[in-house]
Amino acid sequence: MTASRTDGPVAVVYDIQRLSLNDGPGIRTTVFLKGCPLTCAWCHNPESWESSPRLAYTESLCRLCGECVRVCPTRSHSIVGTSGEGLRHVVDWSTCTACGLCVEACPYDALSICGREYTVSELFEALKPDLPYYAVGEGGGVTFSGGEPMASFDFLFGFLRRKGNLNVCLETSGSAPSTDFLKIAPLVDLFLYDYKATGSERHKELCGEGSELILANLRLLCRAGAKVLLRLPLVPGVNDQEEHLRAIAALLEELPELEGAQILPYHALGTGKEARFGLGGRTFLRPSATAEQARAWLAALESFGARKVFL
Ligand code: SF4
Ligand code: SF4
Repeated sequence: MTASRTDGPVAVVYDIQRLSLNDGPGIRTTVFLKGCPLTCAWCHNPESWESSPRLAYTESLCRLCGECVRVCPTRSHSIVGTSGEGLRHVVDWSTCTACGLCVEACPYDALSICGREYTVSELFEALKPDLPYYAVGEGGGVTFSGGEPMASFDFLFGFLRRKGNLNVCLETSGSAPSTDFLKIAPLVDLFLYDYKATGSERHKELCGEGSELILANLRLLCRAGAKVLLRLPLVPGVNDQEEHLRAIAALLEELPELEGAQILPYHALGTGKEARFGLGGRTFLRPSATAEQARAWLAALESFGARKVFL
């Protein structure tokens, strides 16, 4: 269930990326919704983990002026230390309610609130300026990403029922009730469906949940006639073993309805964001995959019989 206002279900949007070229066909607007049931070890979008808005603090901009300490009703900010030893700004993330008062008070833009509630109507309004771009070339549209957009199901379903001929893609981990996937299957133009690890135990180790439901939903969508493209986040030394690559090839053979599979090589961009949200320690940091590694994965998949795989 999604939070709801009197004017319909709402979702918390943490970013709207316009003129996106990598999230489905054509020129697209990618709408990032907050909230995700998984805890993938390589996820560097900490702002997407929780479903509610969250305070962000940028240490490099803070001048230790103390305005936030003065206005915060929950005493979540403090300046500690002495001028001799050096002063330090500490945020108590456990008591912050993301009310935004300190954001307004900070004279140096060191604070912000990540995430804003949208109703379906408000999102359609926000998308209006982009509509002309969707007609360019092969035809674009809107892509929902996250987090896990299915975690905001009521909002998503409400949007899809009103979309008319707007092309909508959905990036998903597959971790959501099967009944929800069946409801939206006829309304989604393309599912961009993650396949992250082989073996339920391994999936749980890396992503916090077993893979049974995810695989069941994938098969369900294919049987229901949905258009599904597999997306393969591959992290060197973590989930690029032969067993996993062979399982991907086998899945593509088992489900000929799949549109194909796209390799998403791990990159370390965006790391370091966790500290800004007080969410450090959940994920690992590794060197980015090289172009050579990505080509080797593609070659290996093809040698195992995988069809329609691309980078
Ligand atoms: S957002 Fe509100 S509760 Fe959180 S630190 Fe700022 S003033 Fe305090
Ligand atoms: S108001 Fe802004 S600059 Fe001043 S101490 Fe707080 S975060 Fe730092």
